[in-house]
Amino acid sequence: LPSKLPNAGNTIFSVMSTLAAQHGAVNLGQGFPDFGADPVLLQAVTEAMAAGHNQYPPMPGVPALRQAIASKLLALYGQAYDPDTDITVTAGGTQGLATAFQACVGAGDEVIVIEPAYDSYDPAIRMAGGVPVGVPMTGDYRIDWDAVQAAITPRTRALVLNTPHNPSGRIATREDLLTLQALAEHHDLFVVSDEVYEHMVFDGATHHSVAAFPGLAARSFLVSSFGKTFHVTGWKVGFVAAPPALSAAFRRLHQYTVFTVHTPTQHALAAYLANPSPWQGLSAFYQAKRDAFRAALAATPLQLLPCEGTYFQTVDYSAISALPEAEFARVLTTEVGVAAIPLSVFYQRPQERQHVRFCFAKKPETLALAAERLAKLA
Ligand code: PMP
Ligand code: GLN
Repeated sequence: LPSKLPNAGNTIFSVMSTLAAQHGAVNLGQGFPDFGADPVLLQAVTEAMAAGHNQYPPMPGVPALRQAIASKLLALYGQAYDPDTDITVTAGGTQGLATAFQACVGAGDEVIVIEPAYDSYDPAIRMAGGVPVGVPMTGDYRIDWDAVQAAITPRTRALVLNTPHNPSGRIATREDLLTLQALAEHHDLFVVSDEVYEHMVFDGATHHSVAAFPGLAARSFLVSSFGKTFHVTGWKVGFVAAPPALSAAFRRLHQYTVFTVHTPTQHALAAYLANPSPWQGLSAFYQAKRDAFRAALAATPLQLLPCEGTYFQTVDYSAISALPEAEFARVLTTEVGVAAIPLSVFYQRPQERQHVRFCFAKKPETLALAAERLAKLA
């Protein structure tokens, strides 16, 4: 059959989770929690169904949920998004990203993708008819703005920002956002800002959202996901916030892509978000996991790279192996019994490094078992 993605294989997340299951490995590859969500939130879905919220909601999403999202964005980032015109509930961050690219990218338009980059950006840009232009980060996973600037051409239409950053665990600084704002204004670029880990930043750091910078908010599709924030990755509910003209373009496509998203879940999330700051405590919760995991790995030859946010810890294994990242991740899964994600899959042209990513959104006993197995590395 004709394909928009003739070279695409299976995503690394399916590949590594399947391999982990086959070999009884502790799955620290694909990013998802192995613990449950707040029972209050789960109960709210049942209650929403029992209350009869089982038919189509309005196309952009349940009004109370859009209002709750707008209130949060105003409280945290100081930007007023109108829930009627500026916020659309999506089938997770993935659909939000894909539809945002469809909305702002035309045939042959170039989109700057800062690499390593989450694996759905490149294919989603291609499916929109665009050309992803990979721009590697610096060696310590900071955004290389000189390289970004050098990659901008008259065909550049948009740039993808991801902060907190998957897979490096870095967070963008206020200076990064100001630089991006100046570049985007100067070159008249759209920004697709993937902030699905917005509530997971460590050591007292601040998440800098495009919403907090008026010049960026005016040209950005802000994408987030409740799956990350409330430990329910399988719910696939997220949102896109963007000014009216961008949201109108987004909704024109959204209505014929999914039309709308699972109704009872939206009601449950709206009720849950009515509690005072239900995301509060999430950073501390994951920081404790990060610290426990890092402490457990300190005795191994794996070198821990900085982790400022997300629930991913990236390590350098060059002290023990010269294998390419994909091969090392495979051996780690099949022979050591711990699945990881090779960073090479997040590049158009992989870097010559020995880095893999572990997910620490796991129960203490899961992390302890993984650390026990990794301690055998020498
Ligand atoms: N962006 C990033 C950076 C992610 O890590 C993920 C997946 N966890 C997504 C987007 C997709 O989010 P969702 O599962 O809500 O589609
Ligand atoms: N975002 C998750 C990760 O980076 C996985 C999402 C998926 O399985 N597609 O691991």
